[in-house]
Formats: sequence, C-alpha cells, structure tokens
Amino acid sequence: MENLPLLSNEILVTKLRGLIQEEREISLKILELINEVERRRLHLELGYPSLFDWLTRDLGYSAAAAMRRIDSARLLRKVPTIAKQIESGKLNLTNLARVQSAIRAEEKRTGKQIEPEQLVNAIEGKSSREVEQHLAQTFPNSAYKADSARAITDNQIRLQVTLSTPQYSELERAREVASHSHFGAPMGEVIGMLAADYLDRKDPLRKKGHTEAVAGPEMTGRRPVPQNVRRLVFQRADGRCEYKNPHTGKVCGSRFQTQIDHIKPVALGGTNAVENLRLLCRAHNAWTAEEIFGPFVKN
Ligand SMILES: [Zn+2]
Repeated sequence: MENLPLLSNEILVTKLRGLIQEEREISLKILELINEVERRRLHLELGYPSLFDWLTRDLGYSAAAAMRRIDSARLLRKVPTIAKQIESGKLNLTNLARVQSAIRAEEKRTGKQIEPEQLVNAIEGKSSREVEQHLAQTFPNSAYKADSARAITDNQIRLQVTLSTPQYSELERAREVASHSHFGAPMGEVIGMLAADYLDRKDPLRKKGHTEAVAGPEMTGRRPVPQNVRRLVFQRADGRCEYKNPHTGKVCGSRFQTQIDHIKPVALGGTNAVENLRLLCRAHNAWTAEEIFGPFVKN
C-alpha cells in the first residue's frame, strides 16, 4: 500500500472516485451472478433451503445485506435496463430493495401483479427519504409492516406483528374464551396457548406414533403414506430437511414447510416403506423432483 499521507488531494479524490465506480460495477456483477445462481438453483444443490440462507450462512453477508442484494437482483431481472443506472450510481441497492419490498407487500395485499419499470425509473437519483415518500404516495393503502422479533432477556422475546381488524377480533375472542381457565392472561400468553394447542393437533413431531410400520397394501407407494409412517419419518429427521450435498456432505436442516419425499419415486415403483422415505423442505422437494422428472412435475 502506498503511503497515504503523502498523496496529493487531487490524486486522493481521483482514486476514491475510481474505486467507488469500480464498487458499483462489482455490485452489478454480484447481482447478475446471484440471478444466475438462482436460475440454476445452485443454493439447493449446495444444501441450503434458500438463496438468503446461502448468502448469509456460507458467504458471510448480514441478513440486511443479503436481502438488499436478493431484492435488487429480482428487480434487475424484471427490468434489465436498470443495469446502467446501477453502474452510474443513479440507483443504489438500498432504494431498489425498498421498491422491491414495497411491490411484494402490495402484490400480497391486492393479489395483483405490479409492473416495476415505471416505479424504478421514478426513484432514479432520489434520496432514501424521497423514495420512502414516493412509495407511500404510490401505495397509500399498503398497511404492510414487517414482523419483528427481538430478544428482551434470555427467555423473553418481544414480538411486533400487524393483524387485520377481523384477525384481531378473533384473537380478542380467543382471549375471552381462554379467560375461563386463564383469567386476565396477557395477549402474549394467549398467543402461546393458541400455538401450543395448534402444534399438539398438527405437528407430526408432537404426535405419538406406533413405533413400527406394518407391511400391508397401504405400503405400496400409490397410496398416501400412512399417518404412523409419516410420524416415524418426521421424528427420525427431527422435523428437518434431510437433503445432503453428495460432495460436501452439507445437510440442509431447514424446518420450513417440510414434506415427506419418496427416495425412489412412486412413479418408478418406490414404496411407502420407512427406508424409502425422507423429509425434505419444500424447496428441496420440488428441486429433487425436477432433477428426476424435469421441470414442472410435482412429486
Ligand atoms: Zn432443504
């Protein structure tokens, strides 16, 4: 490294300007590569349930930095012309990510797809605050607030969520019903009770199953996997995705939307025997099915 204190002001400014330009070009390149990884679903092959998971756990981005890049990359895919504006610094990743997350929220709220091109061009060269204002004007009905969970102490979490009015009425009603056994329970306790009750009924990890799966006609893969066999598979996997990358041995381990998968597919004569079943997250289930049958075929 050269001796910085000896640099002339002029060279210092020129150097900095040049590096910032390079940084923007690299940022753009990173977005393009992220899109290519997503197109190939390489993160799934590597044993990660999502692109976000891979960028944070393996590549070392913070959660916010990873989200900014994923959101910006999606916009770049939808509006390829923004490459030039990113390179010239007229659009930065923070503002692009804001636009993408506002679009996502609005699409979720209305169920309609939004064309981002106009919106992206409208925020060119704007400051963060101006972008916030523009988004608030464009989507005045968007009530979207991201959920947040923050640790208060080692065993207490403060949760902030947004409910619709009918949802809140139902929650209030649940508190009234619960007041017979839990008089004056705070809302947090009510939510905890509802979650425990739901999991007792629905979570395969909590249900006690027979420890043995019997052989019978229901074991042919053409029938649905019997409940007791499902429980066995869920419990054996501790509710986690069992996809493993054959080269690195990295196991996915995601507990999100896990599903039973036939290792030898039913269509190829696979059975419902426990040994032929494994637990996969939804992303890995869809991906492994595509690897075997080609795109757009459900397992
Ligand atoms: Zn997985």
